[in-house]
Amino acid sequence: MTRPDAPDRTAETSARVEDSRAPWAKRTRAAQAMGRVDPATRAVVAPLHVSTTFIRDADNGYASGFSYARPDNATVREAEAVLAMLEEAAGALLFGSGMAAATAVFQALEPGDHVVAPIVMYWGLRRWLREEAPRRRLDLDFVPADDLDALKAAMRPGRTKLVWIETPGNPLWTITDIAAAAGIAHAAGARLAVDSTAASPVHTRPLVLGADLVMHSATKILNGHSDVVAGVLAARAPDAFWARIGAIRAGGGAILGPFEAYLLMRSLRTLHLRAAAQAASAQALAERLAAHPHVARVLYPGLPDDPGHAVAARQMAGGFGFMLSIRVAGGEAAAIATAARVALWKRATSLGGVESLIEHRASVEGPDSPCPPDLLRLSTGIEDPDDLFRDLDAALRAAHAGGP
Ligand code: PLP
Repeated sequence: MTRPDAPDRTAETSARVEDSRAPWAKRTRAAQAMGRVDPATRAVVAPLHVSTTFIRDADNGYASGFSYARPDNATVREAEAVLAMLEEAAGALLFGSGMAAATAVFQALEPGDHVVAPIVMYWGLRRWLREEAPRRRLDLDFVPADDLDALKAAMRPGRTKLVWIETPGNPLWTITDIAAAAGIAHAAGARLAVDSTAASPVHTRPLVLGADLVMHSATKILNGHSDVVAGVLAARAPDAFWARIGAIRAGGGAILGPFEAYLLMRSLRTLHLRAAAQAASAQALAERLAAHPHVARVLYPGLPDDPGHAVAARQMAGGFGFMLSIRVAGGEAAAIATAARVALWKRATSLGGVESLIEHRASVEGPDSPCPPDLLRLSTGIEDPDDLFRDLDAALRAAHAGGP
């Protein structure tokens, strides 16, 4: 509460850092949550807004801009402002999960629209597309999107309305050239949307490279503490398609809850530190594992001999992300046995948290997945990279020897 004798600092305190002396670096603005200070209390942490309803003005309007919590929420807006800043976007919208964000894009299409999606992508969205596209009369083609000739050949000018790519692509970490894919999509009259979950806004800027939409499972490194399920979309332009996505979120009630937005906001303040540390550890692990006698292949775009390295080196900055996979010499049984023998890595699904996770993906993804059966997916956290290597090395050796 503002005391009656306190000076009115509303204008000063509601100023945001970038209004005064732009441009500060993104990590600076994220660390200070855009420099926002609560006008009522001078708090440096924005209050958590939980109210579902708001007083209507005497003239029957809502001068505050808030009327009900399903379409909008002030805490959600705080986190969206940081995410829009990080993605250099015209706007950002938070959803109750990455899947809610991604599927809102496909729901915004019209029956009869043609959609191109990658073969290597988050398996849950691939399954949703396979099941839902025919019901919505969307015409769907899966292509190896890292092959630009294949992508070009899949386009149906005038009919293709959306090209969806994911880079690095889960769980093989294939790299798609975003600028080239945007050129191909736009030449055919389509939009380009990028699932940038594994890159994070720290390493890749899809909108600057020409994409129209960027999506993240904010459950992953954006939140980074494995305690929030959330998703975000950000758009290069506030056009009619973006307005339709906003209407789908508002009408369908897919907005993120305020508690989750509050936790996400807190995480975004340390995103740059976490992303840099996790990418550095992933790079070190990839290099050491590439020389391991019981690893047949390491999949990581930071390795110079990775097929996606040249493009990744061009379109990623500050590292190649926190995700890598290994193909275990000895096949599926050896891979499962390795995952069974780790002590430090956590045997669990998901990615991007501060704790490192290991998972045998083929067990999860099912028969239409391009994931080979000998693959273990590794999400690198912030633990000591030597500890992470030691634990994996011991598990690989024990699995190979068939011991405990
Ligand atoms: N995209 C990628 C690359 C993912 O890894 C995931 C989840 O694992 C999703 C989207 C879906 O996100 P969520 O689990 O938040 O719905």
